[in-house]
Amino acid sequence: MIRIEDIIEKVENNRPEPDIEVIRRAYMFSALHHRGQVRASGEPYLVHPLAVADILAEMRLDEVSVSTGLLHDVVEDTLVDLDTLRSYFGEEITHLVDGLTKIAHISNLSKERQQAENVRKMVLAMITDVRVVLIKLADRLHNMRTMQFLKPEKRARISQETLDIYAPIAHRLGMGKMRSELEDLAFQNIYPEEYKRLSKEVEARRPDLDAALEKITKTIEERLKENGVPFVEIQGRVKRLYSLWKKLKKQKITIDRVYDLIAARIITFDDKKNCYLALSVIHDTWTPVPERFKDWIAIPRDNLYQSLHTSVIGDGGQAFEVQIRTREMHQIAEEGVAAHWKYKEKKLGKQQEDESLDELRKTVEKLLLPLVETTNDNEDSEDFLESLKLDLYPKDVYAFTPMGKVIQLPRGSTPVDFAYAIHSEVGDTCTGAKINGRITTLKTEIQNGDVIEILTTANSKPSRDWLNHVVTAKARNRIRHWIADQQRAESIDIGRKLLEKEIDKFRVSPKKLINNDEEMKRIANEYGLSRPEDLLASIGYGKTFPRSVLGKFLGAEKFAELDPDKRKETRLESGMKAVKKFIGLGEDAIIVQGIDNLLTTRGRCCNPLRGEPIIGYISLGKGIVVHNKNCKNVKQLMVNRDRIVDVEWAKSERQEIQSVKILATTENRTGMLAGITNAIAEIKTGIRDARAKISKDDQGLIEVTVEVFDKKHLDRVVASIEQVPGVIAVERVNSN
Ligand code: MN
Repeated sequence: MIRIEDIIEKVENNRPEPDIEVIRRAYMFSALHHRGQVRASGEPYLVHPLAVADILAEMRLDEVSVSTGLLHDVVEDTLVDLDTLRSYFGEEITHLVDGLTKIAHISNLSKERQQAENVRKMVLAMITDVRVVLIKLADRLHNMRTMQFLKPEKRARISQETLDIYAPIAHRLGMGKMRSELEDLAFQNIYPEEYKRLSKEVEARRPDLDAALEKITKTIEERLKENGVPFVEIQGRVKRLYSLWKKLKKQKITIDRVYDLIAARIITFDDKKNCYLALSVIHDTWTPVPERFKDWIAIPRDNLYQSLHTSVIGDGGQAFEVQIRTREMHQIAEEGVAAHWKYKEKKLGKQQEDESLDELRKTVEKLLLPLVETTNDNEDSEDFLESLKLDLYPKDVYAFTPMGKVIQLPRGSTPVDFAYAIHSEVGDTCTGAKINGRITTLKTEIQNGDVIEILTTANSKPSRDWLNHVVTAKARNRIRHWIADQQRAESIDIGRKLLEKEIDKFRVSPKKLINNDEEMKRIANEYGLSRPEDLLASIGYGKTFPRSVLGKFLGAEKFAELDPDKRKETRLESGMKAVKKFIGLGEDAIIVQGIDNLLTTRGRCCNPLRGEPIIGYISLGKGIVVHNKNCKNVKQLMVNRDRIVDVEWAKSERQEIQSVKILATTENRTGMLAGITNAIAEIKTGIRDARAKISKDDQGLIEVTVEVFDKKHLDRVVASIEQVPGVIAVERVNSN
């Protein structure tokens, strides 16, 4: 049995200033609660947590991981609950143990589903803390090493799970050593007969293989020395049984035809130049097999693996593989992400450590997500991992930038959320997106694993409409903030225009009021506002009336004297009015910049369409509401003549789509709905909704909501519906 003191010694050797006390406490706690429990082997249960902690200490993990190794089974297998654990060991260790604890048995789930749920839970925990998976792998490794006491069926089942889930995870994380051992142990337990047969075959060749390896490594050593290539070590090895078995099965060949049954490995000193030097020596000594050379140094594998691989023809005509890598590359090939825990010469500051852990976390996410996020939609697939795909992340989706950075977002997020998650600037200027290489709208819901490229245009601005399809607080706040800024700028602009109109009526010089900062400030203060812009904004919002501002400026007596309502119009003024009336719009009409965007909104009652005659009403606190000139509400609003302003459509740079409801009355016959929707589709117009019913007097009533750009567009839609045989009348309807 491994002693706790040995584990502590390893941690002390591998880590700077470790908190040994927590390891001792974890040991005591685990021993106390597992007391009396025995393993299938008959040994005390404590052997297992100790062995797991030892594997973790070997991996040079921190004292928190080692302590968690000691405690990893207490919640699952003893009466201790998470709250108790938390009170003794705090949040960090408890979180790790929780991630490692199987979820309670849910009886209505199939075994496969249950297994999927457990892996799902682990992956989720893992994404917040990588140590969860490293501890889980250590746990699994020890169980695999000691499964000879279990029944064959149980051994096979656990081993299959190891091959399906844990070995691929170890591989993804670049942990070559862990993966190899798990695979060979699993192979041995699932296919005991084949394992025996294959190892016999290899053993029979062992003396020859060893002799060949001996000769090869010696030659390599001599040749490297002759050529002055610095190296650390030459290793010789026989191919692992599991990968040999897979190869034989896949290629349907016999063992004699395996070209890489034996392999040599050169570990060089730390400059990658030495790897290429060694390679040239190898190719100079033996004939390389064409197309067998792989440069994983120039292009590392996803799991950070780096090495040169080449196959050459040996002296007896026997081919073998040579792998060449530096010491550091070797360590990463063996330990993968676990190697990140190795402290470099100098101790890292806490913050640097956090940053490097954060980097690591991102790497792990990127490596593991594809494992549980397969792209195969075949639900009948036997592959267990594919069954994990469903509902893997109920709350979050993970998407990637084209550079491979992982962005975590709440489910339902859109490219706008993604853009703001990257950078506020990217969000503010985004105009479109490519998802997995295809152009999509900004409303598209992001799916797990999507690769998203945000398209931006300099000087482009956020749209209020985005608020309807963003879900992240960051995006929402930025857009709202931007709208508030814009609204203020626009309300100041509108306020200025309204005040100018008013002082013109009173024949006051702009110099004396609007352009006189002192005076504006004085009046602003009277309204409890501090700056002239605040006063203008307040007028723009409809909170302060320009007429009342003039009252404060002129004083009661002067105001009454100049009041245009009581004053006789000059001939010029009445002439101007006539001209304005004739052209239909005031020459000082306020330009409406994109209705529904900022301070101007469409009246809900009449939903004016671009191109229709409109009029503006300054509503209290809501800025200008734009109505159709024919809207029945306008007549009532006219009572407050001071608050009516002339408005006109601004020339818009981009076409703004608006939904309009149309009602067609038709003869009662079949195919009317199809005929009408066809007619609309033919002129390339979007249909948002369409429904048909029969009226009391036996006529067809078909209500269609179409997406149009302006009045002209709508007229075209109406005209084409009118062409459909059986249509009696077409009219536009408003929502209320
Ligand atoms: Mn365990």
